[in-house]
Amino acid sequence: MSRVFDPQVWAAVPFHFWSLAFFTFGSIVGSFLNVCIYRMPRGQSLVTPRSHCPHCRYSIPWHLNIPLLTWLFLRGRCANCGAPISIRYFGVELLTAAAFLGCWLAVGRESAPLAVVYCLLLAGFIVATFIDFEHFIIPDEITLGGIVLGFLCSLAVPALHGAPNAAESMKQSFFGIVAGGGVIYAILRIGKLVFGKQKLDLAADTTVVFTETALVLPDKEVPYEDLFYRDSDVITLEAKLVELIDRCYRGVRVQLSASKLVIGEEVLDPETVPYMEVVTDQMVLPREAMGLGDVKFMAAIGAFLGWKAALFRLVAGGRVGPMRLGNGRKRGGGGSKLPAPTGPTRIAPCAATRGPPAPARSSLRPSARPGAARKGRGGPGL
Ligand SMILES: [Zn+2]
Repeated sequence: MSRVFDPQVWAAVPFHFWSLAFFTFGSIVGSFLNVCIYRMPRGQSLVTPRSHCPHCRYSIPWHLNIPLLTWLFLRGRCANCGAPISIRYFGVELLTAAAFLGCWLAVGRESAPLAVVYCLLLAGFIVATFIDFEHFIIPDEITLGGIVLGFLCSLAVPALHGAPNAAESMKQSFFGIVAGGGVIYAILRIGKLVFGKQKLDLAADTTVVFTETALVLPDKEVPYEDLFYRDSDVITLEAKLVELIDRCYRGVRVQLSASKLVIGEEVLDPETVPYMEVVTDQMVLPREAMGLGDVKFMAAIGAFLGWKAALFRLVAGGRVGPMRLGNGRKRGGGGSKLPAPTGPTRIAPCAATRGPPAPARSSLRPSARPGAARKGRGGPGL
């Protein structure tokens, strides 16, 4: 193994042989990153099933799974059903190939292992960026995995921190993790609280319940106090079905803020709606309620590059929540909640399809006590 990074071995073939090798290997890694970008946020296995067309489930044979070339050869269409394949697949492969080549050209002459470590780091950036862009999250596999990997790389390649030995390098890495995870945690947390937004992907036809005091998701309960700080804080979702106590709607957009509930074109006062069940597969929350992806991501960067880089990354603001969403409205009143109902918390059977509001009356369905049946398995996943 030690022979792998022996400079003499690398020098035995021309420099630009390795340039080509880094580019090619980068495109292969990019192909794998595409799989990560699609599957990780959806909680799917990275290994099985094999790559397949998302439209027709056609399993892609190896000879049609060649990075860069396949997409060009098929002109961005599935070989089986002809459905368009996103240019993102080609873009990620090309970007990764170029990134790997860039790492080699930048530091390859100085240190091949360092070039490899930078490749790893950039691959992580690419996955994190694409997933974050689409889903507003960065999976733990990348962030926590990155922290561990960064620390191990610091041990193996002290040059990463410009350190003379492994001990010093690991110290730098450790400070990087603390700076990324600790200091930036505080800043990000405040930023998220004020400006953040989070898109939640739920399983198809998930039932989400809005009770008097909290939003009840399949695996947790989020109190309204954690969601509504300002008048502009809105929960938005596309509902297949909305059930209120006395009526229901199908195929409507729902927006809930502290002062307003909009269902389709109807505007309601949240105070008059003590209970609402919604069937949906995706929603956008006013702020992050699920995790600390940004913080863990910063810690991973710190693990690789030390505390200076972690802080620089923050100041440069590439992907810090507040700057990303740039909503500068001032903060409104305190926390809010849907106040206690005056009538019984019951739901009418959903017979009518978006019928006119019926008067609230005793319904046939027994009271579905919110929070009782659907209580989350654990607390907030912080
Ligand atoms: Zn297809």
